[in-house]
Amino acid sequence: MARRKKIYEGKAKILYDGPEPGTFVQYFKDDATAFNAEKREIIEGKGVLNNRLSEFFMTGLTNIGVPTHFIRRLNMREQLIRQVEMIPLEIIVRNFAAGSLAKRLGLDEGAALPRPIIEFCYKDDALGDPLVSEEHVIAFGWASQQDLDDIIALSLRVNDFMSGVMFGVNIKLVDFKIEVGRVWDGDFQRLIVADEISPDSCRLWDIETGQKLDKDVFRRDLGNLADAYTEVARRLGVLPTNTTHIMKPTLIN
Ligand code: UDP
Repeated sequence: MARRKKIYEGKAKILYDGPEPGTFVQYFKDDATAFNAEKREIIEGKGVLNNRLSEFFMTGLTNIGVPTHFIRRLNMREQLIRQVEMIPLEIIVRNFAAGSLAKRLGLDEGAALPRPIIEFCYKDDALGDPLVSEEHVIAFGWASQQDLDDIIALSLRVNDFMSGVMFGVNIKLVDFKIEVGRVWDGDFQRLIVADEISPDSCRLWDIETGQKLDKDVFRRDLGNLADAYTEVARRLGVLPTNTTHIMKPTLIN
């Protein structure tokens, strides 16, 4: 049997060559890493949950006219995606102070921000994904001014969608990270949401209790990460059955 070609292996996902030109298969691993991979663990079931959750968010975005790389889910851990030219930025959108922003500016965790704040980090593990300004982005050619305008508009739409969906299930979207890629339609380029949207890349707090339902559970040793992600999936109606500890193949529609 022919072995498929691995394009790239990251901390939580693997990309394989796709079955059709212009596609990749994105495989979600169970690996959890934090602090630039200094802390790492295998969390059984995490990949299955993130595959499903990312499908759910990306499909929702497509349905409201926000373009994404998602084509369809293939199985429990894999989804078919469009190949894109990645913009080498992590785009962070914040609604409430937390994490590195709270630390950097001495803000209380959870303090409401006057408006959504967008930050850019240059994607480079060796440098620890440093925060950069729009000036850096344009001067170093990572994206143009027009790209940045489009990225900001796209990110705010994702924020409104994600905040609303989460609010509907009693979860506060504190912040999140997205990545964006370039696709070409003939001579015209478009920017679309790529990578993944999952509790690995969001901060999600229960509105009533403040309970953390995201990767901070792992970063800060607050309990079982798969349980937290399962709770998010359950509230969103994404998991009709318990798939956290599935060991044998199961049909999913
Ligand atoms: N984030 C991410 N990947 C990263 C860095 C951050 O998905 O490499 C997400 C993180 O989960 C959070 C948001 O981006 O939802 C803001 O993260 P922050 O800058 O506060 O960094 P952290 O405290 O996570 O190091």
